[in-house]
Amino acid sequence: MSSSKITPVCLVHYHEIGLKGKNRSRFEKQLITNLCASLSALPVVVRRISGYVLIATKEPSLDVAEVIGAALEIARKIPGVARATYAYKTEQDPEAYCLAAKIALTEALEASSQDPETLTFKVHAKRSATTYELHTLELHQQVGAYLCEGFPQLKVDVHHPDITVNVLIHQSDAYVYAHSLAGVGGLPVGTAGKVVALFSSGFDSPVATWMLGRRGAVMVPVHFSGRPMVVQDSEELCIELCEKLNDSGIIGRLYIVPFGEVQREIALSVPPSLRILMYRRMMYLVADRIAQKEGAKALCTGESLGQVASQTLENIHATAELVSDMPVLRPLVGSDKQEIISRAQELGTFDISATTAPDCCTLFMPKKPETHARMKEINSAWEKLPVEDMVASLLEAVEVNDFSACPAYVAPKAES
Ligand code: ATP
Ligand code: MG
Repeated sequence: MSSSKITPVCLVHYHEIGLKGKNRSRFEKQLITNLCASLSALPVVVRRISGYVLIATKEPSLDVAEVIGAALEIARKIPGVARATYAYKTEQDPEAYCLAAKIALTEALEASSQDPETLTFKVHAKRSATTYELHTLELHQQVGAYLCEGFPQLKVDVHHPDITVNVLIHQSDAYVYAHSLAGVGGLPVGTAGKVVALFSSGFDSPVATWMLGRRGAVMVPVHFSGRPMVVQDSEELCIELCEKLNDSGIIGRLYIVPFGEVQREIALSVPPSLRILMYRRMMYLVADRIAQKEGAKALCTGESLGQVASQTLENIHATAELVSDMPVLRPLVGSDKQEIISRAQELGTFDISATTAPDCCTLFMPKKPETHARMKEINSAWEKLPVEDMVASLLEAVEVNDFSACPAYVAPKAES
C-alpha cells in the first residue's frame, strides 16, 4: 500500500470543563483565531473537527512531516491547548488506517520510558458525522487484531492501558494517533478581558504576565524606564521579553514610560526611606490611567509576599489600593523565587531577565527603604507632590510597541 495515503496532521485537544453552552463556541472560535495567528508563517490550515482543532498542511507536496512537527511545537504554547498530537490522516480504508495505527503505536513505544515488556495498550475508536459502515466496537476489533499481530509482545488492557491508539472516523476520513504532548493548558487569550501588567525586565513580572495570559487575558504591559537618567537597555529587554512571551500570543501592546525625570523630582522632595513607595504609587497611578484608556479591567504585578522591602503586606497596601480602584492581580504572591525562576526558564524569559539593565527602580535608591510604612507619613509625603502634573507629563511621554501575535488585542478607540 502506498504511504501517500497516510498524511501527518496535528490534532489539538482542549479542555472541555466549564465550556458548555454558548461559552464553548466562543472559546473554540478564539482558539482557532489565536492558532491561525501564531501559525501564520507556516503553510497550514486550521479548522475544527469533532472536538479537536485540526492543523493540516495546505499543499500535499510539502515536507509535511517537518511542517506538522513545527506546527505542533508552536501550538503547544498557545493558551487553551491542553495537548497537541502528531496524528495521521488516512482514507476510510482499513489497510490505510491500520497501517497508520501501527506507525502511531511504534512512535508511542519509542516515546515511552517504561520497560517495553510490561507495556499495555488498547484501541479507542470514535465516530462523528460519518456514514462509515463499521461501528466503534467493530473498529476496536479490527484495529486491535491487526496491532496484536504486529506487536505480539504487548498486552491489551482495556481499563488502564499505558498507550491508547485512537481512531477517529470523521466524515469521509480517518485520523489515528497514540502519543500526545502536553500543551500549556489554560484558556484562549481573548476570553477573559484585558489586564494591564506592571512590567519590569526582572524575573517575576514576565512570569506573572504569562500566568494571566494563560488564563485567557489579553496582556498590556507597562514598563517604567529610568530614561533620560539611564540608558534604554531595560526598554530593549522588555521588548525582547514581550516577543518571547508572544510565543504564547498573549501580549497586545507594550507601553514604555520614561520615568527618570519624575523620579528625580520625587527623590528631591520626599524622605529617602519613602522614595520607593512613592515611585510605586506613581507607577500604579499611571498604569491605572493607561488601563482605563485601554478598557482593561485589572492590573497585574509580579509581587511575591515578603520578597523585597516594598513587598511587605503594609507596603503592598500603601501603594496600589489607594491610587487605583481596579483589582490588582498578583499571581505570584505565594510563589517562592525558585518556582518563579523555573517557570522563567521554561518560558525562555530567564536568560533575557538575567541580563542586568538599570531600570527606574535602580535609580535614586535609598540606603534603607521603609519596610513597614506608616500610612500617615506616606500620605502626607504623597500630598506634597504635584501628582496630577506628574501623571500628565508621564502620559504625554508614553511610547507604545504593538505586536501582531495577539489577534484578540483591540487598541483603544481614539487611536484605532
Ligand atoms: P520583578 O522581577 O518583576 O522586577 P522584583 O522582584 O524586582 O520584581 P520589585 O522591584 O519590588 O520586585 O517589583 C515588584 C513589582 O512591581 C514587579 O513585579 C512589577 O510588577 C512592578 N515593577 C517593578 N519595577 C517596575 C518597572 N520598572 N516598570 C513597571 N513595573 C515595575
Ligand atoms: Mg524589579
